[in-house]
Amino acid sequence: MPAKRAHIQTFGCQMNEHDSQRMAKILESAGYEMTGDPAQAQVVLVNTCSVRENPENKVYSLLGRLRSLKKGGARVIIGVAGCVAQQEGEAILHREKCVDLVFGPDNYFDLPDMIAAAERGERVLNTEWLSGRQKVRNFIPEERMEQVALEGCKGYIAITKGCDNFCSFCIVPYTRGREVSREMDNILREARTMLEQGAKEIWLLGQNVNSYTADGAGFYELLDAVSRLDGLRRLRFTSPHPNDWNNRLSELMAERPAICNHLHLPFQAGGNRVLALMRRRHTIEDYLEKVRYMRAINPQLEISTDIIVGFPTESDEEFAWTLRVMDEVRFSQVFAFKYSVRPGTRAAGMEDDVPREVKEERLARVLELQERITEEQLRALAGSRHDVLIDGAHLRRQGVMNGRTEGFRPVSVPGGELEIGDLVPVRITGYRNHWLEAERLVNLSASA
Ligand code: SF4
Repeated sequence: MPAKRAHIQTFGCQMNEHDSQRMAKILESAGYEMTGDPAQAQVVLVNTCSVRENPENKVYSLLGRLRSLKKGGARVIIGVAGCVAQQEGEAILHREKCVDLVFGPDNYFDLPDMIAAAERGERVLNTEWLSGRQKVRNFIPEERMEQVALEGCKGYIAITKGCDNFCSFCIVPYTRGREVSREMDNILREARTMLEQGAKEIWLLGQNVNSYTADGAGFYELLDAVSRLDGLRRLRFTSPHPNDWNNRLSELMAERPAICNHLHLPFQAGGNRVLALMRRRHTIEDYLEKVRYMRAINPQLEISTDIIVGFPTESDEEFAWTLRVMDEVRFSQVFAFKYSVRPGTRAAGMEDDVPREVKEERLARVLELQERITEEQLRALAGSRHDVLIDGAHLRRQGVMNGRTEGFRPVSVPGGELEIGDLVPVRITGYRNHWLEAERLVNLSASA
């Protein structure tokens, strides 16, 4: 009998990618094979994100296209998961008749039961918040500990869920709930299982990853413990909040070889008044002081960031501070967005008074400056040596593999015989677009 097939389309952040991987594992253990083609699937899930612009419109327009899968009475179950599902809930079932399941980020472990109910003809709404212990347990139930989700040589582990920060522009605390941290033992067990199953790199994930606290341990203790695990080559985490960052963490990063020299530390805006309106709980001076310290003790460190331009009332002068911070820190990558209202957030009560053209012009200036900085950095990397963790084949160039430096820069490396998970010493020879080009320094057997 042909296997049942399932397809998951994911929008948004790394946490959503991780949730989709978990859903895929749950479906696989329920007998489904995953497919990249929704037309071949009996279960199609859309894992949504509310962070980017017009998220609801994007989801409804995708659902409009998926409607055709049910043409002629085909038995396909369509589900909507994630933040938009949590926020819109029943409205999705009302508005889009092709949808059978709507469930939030706390509820995907119930997928087999929800699918069974949909097969009986029910339309399922499951957006209930789990609380306390229940939510912690739902990170990864003991009986599913063996079903870790690896992506090539990388394993992603959710260590916290939800967020208590309530930054005024952000919908996450309303769609993923209050923050809970998972027990350290449970995280270490999942990490060990991943390493036994071939992971070389582990990512610790959380909306505010460094506010982790469980059983008297904080993020420092967790990072320290995970970084000592046998077999681990690289440890990354995302996203930390500047307010919860401290010099001890910078020191641990600098001294522990497994912790990669890359930090994604969002600063959002350069003006202190704007940061206060955003409820970020730090000043730009605090941010820069922490960055200066970590750079002083760890000059190789690469830092990336998030920026929002055109937050309500942001003046030209305040925006100029954003550019000044970029000039000083010289980020390796910037994810920049024009502010747009998220209904239900505190900022939605403020007048969105920065004109669209001004936001566009500010965004263009941020991107232009970053482009210049990136070019200079890429040029300066010529001749430098790095270890590259191979994570896939180049899509168009035969005999070329792709990977990342410790600083998270993408690199193309010659060597069709290389395998995912190989750690290869290279010398940078140049760059194309934003990808570094490299030559191998020694053959693989010498570097393994
Ligand atoms: S820290 Fe702020 S921006 Fe990040 S998830 Fe929490 S509320 Fe949103």
